[in-house]
Amino acid sequence: MDLLDQVFKMLANPLCDHCMGRQFALLGHDLENDKRGEALKSLLALEGYNLLFSDLEKGLSLLKRVFAEDGSQEVTRQVSEDPTTDSELEARCFLCHETFKEIDGIVSRVINALREYEFSSFLVGVELPFEVIEREDEFKGRFRVSHSESMKSHVSRLIGKQIAHSIGKKVNHRRPDIVALVNPFLKNITIQVNPLYVSGRYLKLIRGIPQSRWLCGECQGNGCVTCSWTGRRYKESIEELIGLPVLRLAEGREIAFHGSGREDIDTLMLGSGRPFVVEIKEPKKRLINLEKLEYDINKLAEGKIEVGVLVFADKDVVRRIKKAEASRKIYNSIVEFQRDVTVKELKRVENALSNSIIYQQTPRRVLHRRADLTREKHIYGAKLRRLSKRRAELKIHCQGGLYIKELITGDEGRTKPSLASIIDAEAKSIQLDVLEVIDGIRG
Ligand SMILES: [Zn+2]
Ligand SMILES: [Zn+2]
Repeated sequence: MDLLDQVFKMLANPLCDHCMGRQFALLGHDLENDKRGEALKSLLALEGYNLLFSDLEKGLSLLKRVFAEDGSQEVTRQVSEDPTTDSELEARCFLCHETFKEIDGIVSRVINALREYEFSSFLVGVELPFEVIEREDEFKGRFRVSHSESMKSHVSRLIGKQIAHSIGKKVNHRRPDIVALVNPFLKNITIQVNPLYVSGRYLKLIRGIPQSRWLCGECQGNGCVTCSWTGRRYKESIEELIGLPVLRLAEGREIAFHGSGREDIDTLMLGSGRPFVVEIKEPKKRLINLEKLEYDINKLAEGKIEVGVLVFADKDVVRRIKKAEASRKIYNSIVEFQRDVTVKELKRVENALSNSIIYQQTPRRVLHRRADLTREKHIYGAKLRRLSKRRAELKIHCQGGLYIKELITGDEGRTKPSLASIIDAEAKSIQLDVLEVIDGIRG
């Protein structure tokens, strides 16, 4: 179909320059849709004027179309369920109902709403009423439109371009700091702030601190006699010792803590530390000073925990850290036996464990939070040093996810083999430390 002929037919319904141009958006570059629409209408008008000399009637009909003085209101009224009056209907764009005129106002409202956030990239998301999308689809079908842009992309691109121009920030489609969700028809604006991620490694220097916040089991955090009205089973957690200073600096709403595995409450985390990512939800500040953050955390935690190598991270690092839970670990444990053990017996344990596979069914003590499965875990090396008749120090290098306390006790036969089963002597861990997390993730 001839281009001008198509434009002429489309204009049976009044179309604003934006909506006219959008139907041919893929023809030519570096031209905004409204300019494209304006040009097409001008071209049709010129054609109309030209025809006045040879075919007066045809010329007039073209001009009427361009200037929307024919029976188009009639068509609009038939298709639209919008009970607006005739005068309002006049020259109202059939596709957008003049919504493109509202864009400047929406842009300044979005800019205003973004003012309280620090960000370097953003994205504009657009929601359109169902009937608007349907009307445009029907229109495109009717005129076999094949070079158009969707109204959604058109609106979002236009608003994004104007915001970027006026505040000097970049549009980012893949990973924006902030998303402005706009419904130009209802004039709704919602700001969605994406999380900020900081990764690092932590050391736990004293016993008795859980990794996650732990509420009182009696009152679920409300406060009761059991917890002396603190609502807590444990007063502090690594999550909070790290999270509170982060939250304060980034002015976020809340945090989520992601550790590459976790140690028991009574276990130290030594060596170069355990990798973690802290996710700050709805931060107002993103360009936080990580040196200051490290200082603040370490000062608040005063020798209980210590963090280092803080860097900005992203969602992918969280995923990798979760996977790295199974990275290799080195533990040190003080083992106590229920009877005297000989150096020879300890040597037997050492040989049996080194380079072996352990079949470990989920320990009874973590069954409440982990599925009941039997896992195969590799031990790369084990060393035992006799400390006294009934005590020994165990140093073990193993695959992450192996529960060491159960490797020692046997957990009533759920871990096979175990220190206890190898020499048939009841045994338990009275102290456990993580000496190193190997192949940890850097953000
Ligand atoms: Zn329009
Ligand atoms: Zn309580």
